[in-house]
Amino acid sequence: MIEGVPVDVGLANEGERIRKEEMHLEFGGPKVESKWEIVRVMPPDSVEDGVVRIVGPDIRELAGGGSYPLGILVEVAGPQLEEDFEGIIERRIHEYSNYVEGLMHLNQRYDIWVRLSKRGFKAGFDSLEYLGLVLLHLFKNELPIIEAMQVTFYTEPSAVAERLPDVLARYEARDARARGLTDEEVDTFYGCALCQSFAPRHICIITPERYANCGAISWFDGRAAARMDPKGPIFALEKGECLDPVNGEFVGVNATAKERSMGEVDRVRLYSAFGYPHTSCGCFEGIAFYIPEVEGFGIVHRGFRDPTVNGLAFSTMADSTAGGRQVDGFHGVSLEYLKSRKFLAADGGWDRVVWVPSEILDRLKPFLPEGVAERTATERDVTGVDDLREFLRARDHPVVARWTEEPSGRALVTAENLPLEVGGYRVILKNARIYADRVIVLREEPAHGEGRR
Ligand code: SF4
Repeated sequence: MIEGVPVDVGLANEGERIRKEEMHLEFGGPKVESKWEIVRVMPPDSVEDGVVRIVGPDIRELAGGGSYPLGILVEVAGPQLEEDFEGIIERRIHEYSNYVEGLMHLNQRYDIWVRLSKRGFKAGFDSLEYLGLVLLHLFKNELPIIEAMQVTFYTEPSAVAERLPDVLARYEARDARARGLTDEEVDTFYGCALCQSFAPRHICIITPERYANCGAISWFDGRAAARMDPKGPIFALEKGECLDPVNGEFVGVNATAKERSMGEVDRVRLYSAFGYPHTSCGCFEGIAFYIPEVEGFGIVHRGFRDPTVNGLAFSTMADSTAGGRQVDGFHGVSLEYLKSRKFLAADGGWDRVVWVPSEILDRLKPFLPEGVAERTATERDVTGVDDLREFLRARDHPVVARWTEEPSGRALVTAENLPLEVGGYRVILKNARIYADRVIVLREEPAHGEGRR
């Protein structure tokens, strides 16, 4: 317990899921346009240590069941703090908020989603001030280099929206700093275990050219984190011998994945969505999903609410992608990784991407190789896979060269999802991969007198 906070606060509450029916209210999330969280390192005289401010209505003044804008500004000061530390201090907002019983914090940066449970509200958690007290307490205890800290919550819709462009510009400045360095130039990568409370087998491997799945931690942030808190959840790892430069397989990465996933994941290919892909927790900004009918990849980001070109929405595919598993053809990615020359390089990179929401394609245009934007379909060009095939042929997309004959409609099925039942027992095939040229699905005719299932 933390003095003055009416609910339990501790590690045991991490990983608590709050479903819609259990929710009192939520801040951010897919229904809310403006939401963000940011940490700024400030000069000491501009931080009033221990102060929590709320600009706009507090929880107790907001109707239950609603979704509301939220901006979280954490300002810190201390002689050893550097601007480089901002990103990793910021990522701990996710971790510490999830220590609060009855509170669930998802995602990061401009995409946060905070839910308060009915139980938490009934227990007296009716003010953001309590969350402020928790953040003050945990940050200052866990990271003693923070000597002074103040927290401001913005809930007034106009105050959240008008600060958003500045906040986005700060994220972009951080990301830009991290561009340019290559994976070959460094001996050390970084690992992050922050999301293991939700996905126990998951470890993010952060390299100069493979930004963390959540889009919140660059290689430089990893380096700063390991320096600031060597025993913390972000750690340095020797990349070791390169076993496969195309797929991006390294001795040190495999060893770390094995150790940190308790043996569940022992091989990782950093630049491929097949074979031994990087695991995905649940915080990914987007998903690269394989479309077997055209042998290419679609990409969808969290903010795209409509069904994608394969008929599935982000939320449906997120269920197949998340959980710290290695799922062939469903790959959690950050938007920054899409700008990298290593982005699914082993699978063809952008020569293999066939569909992207127009919002993301517009945003990525300045970073893409020439001609890519013109030959990549969006929701404005096609509505389904048949249209997509025609579009790709008309634009002479490089993926067409892979169609030695008409695409076969080969389906990708991960064995993990196959419901195998034998003699009343459920059979789970671990790490099995089944490739078949043809899959025939037959409806089982009911036996005489038996109803249809
Ligand atoms: S997505 Fe990866 S890098 Fe980001 S917090 Fe989770 S484990 Fe860490």
